[in-house]
Amino acid sequence: MTKKLSYQQLKDIDREKIIHPQSVPKQNADEGPSMIYSKGDGIRVTDMDGGTYIDGVSMLWNVNLGHGQSELATAAYEQMNEFAYGSQFYGNSNEPAIRLADKITEYAPGDLDGVFFTSGGSESNDTAFKLSRFYWQLQGFESKKIIISLKRGYHGVTVSAQRATGIEAFREFSGSGDPHIINAKAHLTAAEQGDRTSSDFEKSIRGLIEQEGADNVAAVILEPVQGAGGVHLPPDGYLQAVRNLCDEQNVLMIADEVICGFGRTGKNFAVEHWNVTPDMISFAKGVTSGYFPLGGVIMRAKVKEAIAQYDQMLAHGFTYSGHPTGCAVALKNLEIIEREGIVDHVTEMEKELQKGLHTLQEKHKCMTKSRAIGLLAGFDLMKDPEADQLFENDVKAAETFVKACRERNLILRKFDFEDGMNTVAIAPPLIITKKEIQELIDILDDALTAVHKKWE
Ligand code: PLP
Repeated sequence: MTKKLSYQQLKDIDREKIIHPQSVPKQNADEGPSMIYSKGDGIRVTDMDGGTYIDGVSMLWNVNLGHGQSELATAAYEQMNEFAYGSQFYGNSNEPAIRLADKITEYAPGDLDGVFFTSGGSESNDTAFKLSRFYWQLQGFESKKIIISLKRGYHGVTVSAQRATGIEAFREFSGSGDPHIINAKAHLTAAEQGDRTSSDFEKSIRGLIEQEGADNVAAVILEPVQGAGGVHLPPDGYLQAVRNLCDEQNVLMIADEVICGFGRTGKNFAVEHWNVTPDMISFAKGVTSGYFPLGGVIMRAKVKEAIAQYDQMLAHGFTYSGHPTGCAVALKNLEIIEREGIVDHVTEMEKELQKGLHTLQEKHKCMTKSRAIGLLAGFDLMKDPEADQLFENDVKAAETFVKACRERNLILRKFDFEDGMNTVAIAPPLIITKKEIQELIDILDDALTAVHKKWE
């Protein structure tokens, strides 16, 4: 029997032994973990200290069907008992992976018709970069290697995905770099969006293609809606303009739908809002609602068919590509999404969330530029939005606000960028009800009132 450890013992071991991802190591070494989750139920999670919180960001925008979904647990249990793991190497396969590939390509727009499985978002983007370069190589364009990404895009932390990430702290971390990945200067930030049109972004990407030479560029990668860059919706016509540019310049378009895919924005894939078919879609997170690490790349027929004719070993693949248990969980997840009409529910709940956020924005001076698509939302905190005045850095506006929400049993995510912008993200589980949205809005209201008093 495993020895029972007290809450304090667990905290101490964590503090001493674990280097946490995307956390402040010294803070962890000094204070231990900020929460030790012990239970989840619907939109709520419980900390070992007994507190119960609304998970306002679905953990990392991935627990889309909410916590404690026992059908997903059962699907994993049954698959593990039957056949827990088998690799896809050497041409082998398994039924859940085959069924999932069929389902995903049925969901995917246009002629997206082939799938390569991975274990998460970063691996999916690295795979998309490699396969797009490989595709061009197969077409006889050996020099097409460069990947263009956008400022504030977030694509993960493996070396290539890190380099494509246009948020300085990640892009530069630890000096790793892929010289073939370059970053456009165009921003999608809400602050600039009002003044910028889709053609500004198109010009920025076009400028880079021309600078590098289209013969050297393999692909452009972008998130249809930027997540970790501050939740930014694209200006009208933007995705279509990038699609046209890619066609004109003979460059592949990769849509990173790691956050957006499988219903988060009120469509199966966010690109559907703008009727655009990218050449590849990378996915992860929501495909299993976070119940199993699984991701992949969906590719258009022309890419899949070119690769399918290669008669030597494709020197790429992960131990957990096409993991049967992960695929079984994903299949159940997609079945529940369909059965419960989750995607339409998201569109309904978006209206409630938008309404609540607008009311708060009218009431609280520091809250500005609230935005939402489906259940992916954000707003900025500014000292004086009308005068375009940001908070001073030492106010730590987003951090203070998110802490105030935590004290009121709501978990949210904050972003404070090098340009001084403070942004708060909201992305609750897609199963959230109208009543629960109101509960969330009431907590935001109370927390805004509290921090406002502090800042005045
Ligand atoms: N792409 C996007 C848009 C993401 O938001 C993330 C993670 O948040 C990733 C890629 C990386 O995914 P992972 O952390 O599973 O490697």
